[in-house]
Amino acid sequence: MAGRIKDEDIQLVRERARIDEVIEQYVTLRNAGGNRIGLCPFHDEKSPSFNVRPVQGFYRCFGCDASGDVYKFLMEIEGLTFVEAVERLAAKYGITLRYEDGDSGPRRDPQQRNRLLEAHREAGAFYAAALQSSADAEVGRQFVKDRGFDQAAAETFGMGFAPRGGEALVSHLKAKGFTDDELTIGGLAARGSRGLYDRFRGRLLWPIREMTGEIIGFGARRMFDDDRVEAKYLNTSETPIYKKSQVLYGLDMARKAISSSSQAVIVEGYTDVMACHQAGVMTAVATCGTAFGEDHARVMRRLMLDHDAFHGEVIFTFDGDEAGQRAALKTFSGDQQFVAQTYVAVEPRGMDPCDLRLADGDAAVRELVASRIPLYRFVLDNMLSRYDLDRGDQRVDAVREAVTLASSIRDKSKVDELLREISGRVGVDIEQVRAEHRKRAAAPKATPTTSTRAAAPTGDVPTIQVSSFGAPQFFDEREALKAIVQHPHLAKSLIDDLDENDFTHPISQELWGFIKAMPWPDGPDANWLPKLSDSVASDELKRVLAVAAVEPMRAGERNTAAVVESVIVRLQLLTTARRINEVKSKLQRTNPIDEAEPYNRMFGELIALEQQHRSLRDRSIGIPTL
Ligand SMILES: [Zn+2]
Repeated sequence: MAGRIKDEDIQLVRERARIDEVIEQYVTLRNAGGNRIGLCPFHDEKSPSFNVRPVQGFYRCFGCDASGDVYKFLMEIEGLTFVEAVERLAAKYGITLRYEDGDSGPRRDPQQRNRLLEAHREAGAFYAAALQSSADAEVGRQFVKDRGFDQAAAETFGMGFAPRGGEALVSHLKAKGFTDDELTIGGLAARGSRGLYDRFRGRLLWPIREMTGEIIGFGARRMFDDDRVEAKYLNTSETPIYKKSQVLYGLDMARKAISSSSQAVIVEGYTDVMACHQAGVMTAVATCGTAFGEDHARVMRRLMLDHDAFHGEVIFTFDGDEAGQRAALKTFSGDQQFVAQTYVAVEPRGMDPCDLRLADGDAAVRELVASRIPLYRFVLDNMLSRYDLDRGDQRVDAVREAVTLASSIRDKSKVDELLREISGRVGVDIEQVRAEHRKRAAAPKATPTTSTRAAAPTGDVPTIQVSSFGAPQFFDEREALKAIVQHPHLAKSLIDDLDENDFTHPISQELWGFIKAMPWPDGPDANWLPKLSDSVASDELKRVLAVAAVEPMRAGERNTAAVVESVIVRLQLLTTARRINEVKSKLQRTNPIDEAEPYNRMFGELIALEQQHRSLRDRSIGIPTL
């Protein structure tokens, strides 16, 4: 191990290396008096308390008390030793270090990073040249063209091609003096039985750069059918310089635009980043073979420096397909602080930005980004699509589940906004939604969230629960069943107007199905009930039927015919009332301008229902009340 670096060299490097310049490679800083401030990279914060004093060469965070000089900063943020930090900066500023024991040669370990970066720089140039000139690469050049990019675009992004042979890069880099270890540790080559071979063979390449612009890895697309690696995309695996949880493709180019506009667009692929930049969306980046995670969010937040309130927007373009939606939902379950300013831009046809640009041009890509909607709304829509909002019981369930979404948002100012949105989308009164939210907030924390529970598919009769049929809200249905079962000849003239929708409980619905199938007696008929009972399938239903057959009607024995009519009309009154509510709710969810046709149709339906309701009410007058 070599000796200490001479003190005067340590001081020289510290003087040469401007602390704000070094820190700005990680944190966006803005001027504040003589100082520069930004969001602390060492703790999560929304308002900047990280101060950098270029004159003193010192930084300090008032949030977490992190402080130090430029070396300390690099040690903390990159996990370097002191000597490594000095060597890193000396290399960057072109200063040759001298060591106490007279050994001026660089030590192997601290230099590793620089060597790996150099190897990648060489590899990048080698691959780029291959894309332009190698015969093998024709398929790659064609791909670039087919995706709508010219040669200048390919050059801007440093695109390259890995020759098929399998050893071209290894021999090129070894001729440049790189060791086997440097090539394998850096992920450029792998070791086989016959020595080193190129990690990427016969693939189209995108160099992945860190924020400073240094190449740290590659993304590689399959080009040939005989490629023994099946994966469409291969990325550099984890190396000392490549950390996939933090890497964002395009960040070196998008960094400035992201900082100045406080907006970032996260796309899914390399060509999508290129398409966005070509279309003028300069804030586009992509993760490299991994989902957008907490580390990426932290990088973004640091870049999108904002003031006391964090207003930056992170916009995800997801495919409208299921995988894209899952990705969005996964994002939602992540960093909640981040979620408040997270948006989604979904191309209705499921096109990614690259396809969209090919089909409709640059403006369409810009429009896609501009059409973003808040992530919570996307998740809400996704959630509500599983409910049949025309059904009252489903609306109740939908509100209940949607409110769990509101409860998961930490930013209280956003909560009421979301509750209002739920009210509008589901078509229920805002107070009902707020009440559900309060109920939820008051509930013990141990209550598990139901947000992942799927709604029962529409029309699917759930397991029949006989017990619930005794609940007060089914009083009218029970009375109507009694009236029909006990006096079928009196009900006969009334049941034409009845249908299964007049019954809402699965028990009464199912029983009504059997009753309807029976021939109706003209007068009292002792055989009718036993026959009905025989036709009923389940024992459970038979029991309910038996109760309906013998339990006295609540109205007593005043005027049986009038009572039978009364309960049946009442049932129909309830049905029209329910339908009126449903149509009103649907109207509330329909835009009268954009969806004029269905809106007008529903409006007509509403008027007809209200007329029907009035006439039923008129009929019920004069029937003795229960
Ligand atoms: Zn801090």
